[in-house]
Amino acid sequence: MHSHSETSSRQFPARSGGSAPRRAASPGRRFGGAWIFDLDNTLHNATPHIFPHINRSMTAYLQEHLQLDAEAASALRLKYWHRYGATLLGLMRHHGTDPDHFLWHTHQFPELARMVVAERAALHTVRRLPGRKLLFSNSPAHYAHAVLDVLGLGTLFDGVYAIEQVRYQPKPLGAGFRRLIAQERLIPRRTVMVDDSLPNLRAAHRLGMRTVWVSREPRVPDYVTVRVGSVRALPRLLDDLGMSC
Ligand SMILES: [Mg+2]
Repeated sequence: MHSHSETSSRQFPARSGGSAPRRAASPGRRFGGAWIFDLDNTLHNATPHIFPHINRSMTAYLQEHLQLDAEAASALRLKYWHRYGATLLGLMRHHGTDPDHFLWHTHQFPELARMVVAERAALHTVRRLPGRKLLFSNSPAHYAHAVLDVLGLGTLFDGVYAIEQVRYQPKPLGAGFRRLIAQERLIPRRTVMVDDSLPNLRAAHRLGMRTVWVSREPRVPDYVTVRVGSVRALPRLLDDLGMSC
């Protein structure tokens, strides 16, 4: 499922490290618009297979490395997740956990291709959107790139920001967003954040971005510019999002 579109990103594969190649003549550079896409539950559905696998892996990691039984490990994982927005942050703060060790061992997917659930037509519309495209995920880089490869989007993004590239400061913390804005020289009012998480969108809105909430929820907060059931709807909303060329 590789891109057969005309996008110039084919010549410039996305790299990790946030070191996006500079493109002199892409349409995105001309009109200054940029998209920031979340990965899980935005570009594919992680709920049926991937999230349960990660949760099991994290609980097992806590059991093994903090010498907890399954119940205590599960409770601690949830506590850190609620308090810090990421289990990792609680582990780093309270247990001195090595983030790379944790992220590697909790994101192993021997059968990733069978676990990713995605709509091919939706991914095709993402490829064809005008403007620069960045990925910003709270997941580790090895996992983000593996999922993008499965989705056939391995060369689409002009920059891939996984948790390592924002110094383990996940969304919705401001530090990661500001790093991305500075490194990519984004103009917030010409930038659209696409995410399934409301706290992430609120943070993007506060920085001046427009926001797309990927959700089926009927009630939409005022910091959401548009809600979509799927990214497939984005081409119809370019005017609302200030992304018409
Ligand atoms: Mg998400």
